[in-house]
Amino acid sequence: MPLTDNAAVDGYAFAHADYVERDGRFEVSDRIAAGHPLATGLTPGRAARIFTGAVMPAGADTVAMQEDCEVREKGTAALVVIPPGLKSGANRRRAGEDVRAGEVILHPGRVLRPQDIAAAASLGRGDLLCKVRLRVAVFSTGDELVEPGAAIREGQVYDSNRAMLKALAEPLGISVDDLGCLADDYPTVEAALSNAARDYDVLITSGGASRGEEDHVIDVLGALGERHMWQLAIKPGRPMTFGRIGDAAFFGLPGNPVAAFVCFLLYVRPALFQLQGANWQEPARFPLPATFDIPKKKANRREFLRGILTERDGTPAVTKFARDGSGLITGLREADGLIEIAEDVREVHAGDTVAFIPFSEFGI
Ligand code: AMP
Ligand code: MG
Repeated sequence: MPLTDNAAVDGYAFAHADYVERDGRFEVSDRIAAGHPLATGLTPGRAARIFTGAVMPAGADTVAMQEDCEVREKGTAALVVIPPGLKSGANRRRAGEDVRAGEVILHPGRVLRPQDIAAAASLGRGDLLCKVRLRVAVFSTGDELVEPGAAIREGQVYDSNRAMLKALAEPLGISVDDLGCLADDYPTVEAALSNAARDYDVLITSGGASRGEEDHVIDVLGALGERHMWQLAIKPGRPMTFGRIGDAAFFGLPGNPVAAFVCFLLYVRPALFQLQGANWQEPARFPLPATFDIPKKKANRREFLRGILTERDGTPAVTKFARDGSGLITGLREADGLIEIAEDVREVHAGDTVAFIPFSEFGI
């Protein structure tokens, strides 16, 4: 790609050796438009009128832009005067300059971006063999939750996690079904999860994954399938769990929206890529100076703060969303990414370097 040498501009094509010899003055012998290659080569000693994307005729190696040329009549023929200084090969695209014959442009596991699709199409591939979309079911749990749009009473909160998780998962090329909100009741959770495990590749719940008497996700997971992990040394997100129910992978996220968000990005997202057969890259951490203090951080726990890009002494720096609390969706909305504080760190002072993960690393 491209298949042949072709003109990069509208203008005149000629042999550079002639251009030097003839002081840039040519009779124009042929006209070559895109899609209409010349059957014969360029008439020796002549120039051809040529248009962008038209095949370079045999014998021509250089093109002058029409804006730079002067055209004069000479009897019935046109004479073109090309200014000096053009290098051999100017304004010519070479065959294979985009992609060489035999070059591999897409490897298995690639998540197709618009530019990859363009590249495949440019090489004549109208169909690509792709993995089947992963089928993911999303549930909320909690007696206090109500559907956005419905009336709300004291003691209730609108369910924001389901809409958020669906919006996080769908751009990964996944088919996501919203299976509603489950009451805090063992038989309800059990029936819903065991049914869904037959129809879906992955189940994701939020809420009900802690140790409280009203939390049933952990017990149901243990009874129906297998729990592989529960409780991570992170903040927010400690109640996170994962395992398997039948053939379905299971992720139990915390109910607090910020925790559910962080756990999805850091742990569920890579798993969804992997389960789809897609390649996955660890999100890049950018070292930036902090503009805040954390006088006393708990040891043996990794913390993720909502980070906002700012400036310190004229250079990029990161500040944290002022309020802690894993229910504050405002912090997610105002943040540019996450600040990661490692397990062994006990205190942070303004000016210390911290790891910043921009949301763009998660494609959001
Ligand atoms: P849980 O993990 O069930 O103990 O819930 C922790 C907190 O998150 C509680 O304040 C819940 O009301 C809240 N929460 C749980 N699920 C959701 C949800 N889907 N949308 C908004 N808030 C939720
Ligand atoms: Mg709950």
